[in-house]
Amino acid sequence: MLVFMKHDSPEAAVRSLAIQLSRQGIGAARSDNGGRIVLTLVGETWTLDEQQLMALPYVERTVRLTPPWHLASRQQHPENTVVSVGAARIGQDFCLMAGPCAVESALQMQGVARAVKAAGGQILRGGAYKPRTSPYTFQGFGAPALDLLVQTGKETGLPTVSEIMDPAQLPAFEHVDMLQVGARSMQNYPLLRALGAQTKPVLLKRAAGASVEELLQSAEYILSGGNPNVVLCERGIRTFSQTSRATLDISAIARLKKLTHLPVIVDPSHAAGSAELVAPLALAAAAAGADGIMLEVHDRPAAALSDGAQSLSCTAFTELAEKLERLHKALEA
Ligand code: PEP
Ligand code: MN
Repeated sequence: MLVFMKHDSPEAAVRSLAIQLSRQGIGAARSDNGGRIVLTLVGETWTLDEQQLMALPYVERTVRLTPPWHLASRQQHPENTVVSVGAARIGQDFCLMAGPCAVESALQMQGVARAVKAAGGQILRGGAYKPRTSPYTFQGFGAPALDLLVQTGKETGLPTVSEIMDPAQLPAFEHVDMLQVGARSMQNYPLLRALGAQTKPVLLKRAAGASVEELLQSAEYILSGGNPNVVLCERGIRTFSQTSRATLDISAIARLKKLTHLPVIVDPSHAAGSAELVAPLALAAAAAGADGIMLEVHDRPAAALSDGAQSLSCTAFTELAEKLERLHKALEA
């Protein structure tokens, strides 16, 4: 980081800043830029709070050379991170994850899981604790739903992913293979810290109102806790457009692939809000370089207890999985 001091900075102010920084383990090399002092900071500068430096009376401006998502940055780790979930290698091979918004019944789970497996899907999703906008709507069946998800995953040979909303739920997720942090929880820092303190892979969804830089800093909470197994998920952001439930930020996929070594998957279902938009968004995301796609699939979408409108039938899902495969072959050719 570079710190540009104001023209009239007294020597004592520059020295006191250098001392303050050295107490934080940061070295400051001085140079003169046309009568202005510039401090070039060395050390773990990504831990510094720029706002705090800018609040000092003699600091004119600061320039970051390393981003505050140091561990997530590609600058720091040029090769792609590969996150293993069962046999899936996310970040290495294209990964299709699918399943219902919420786990509802054994019959539903068996029907959907068979379709996911047959279509080449690698991870079975299913919500047990649902973060619903209204407290009056279906909130998920909780722990019994997780058991059903795990059991169905075992029967079909698919690893599982499900959303966790509270660190206190961690014991209930013991047999779930991947922990999803939903869009609404992206900045739930106690949850992120708890998931950083264990090693199960985390699927971190971007909040509807978050920038990619904020998403990366949320990932940094998990990485800095010691858990390297983080997969990012773009699932649509809130814009003025009313053509879909959210606006799928395709450029975020390409931008994230440049900024970070972490795998980036896309959930077109929550961006679309309606089933007929899911396939075009999924194909666009795959073409833009997503490392995987997560889809909501239901054996009877019209009877779904949550997100039925955006859920694909098993038949529509199978067709889309085939198209995604053809697209990948064409892109590789
Ligand atoms: C979900 O995956 O069912 C979900 C609630 O997604 P999001 O957090 O992206 O809204
Ligand atoms: Mn859903």
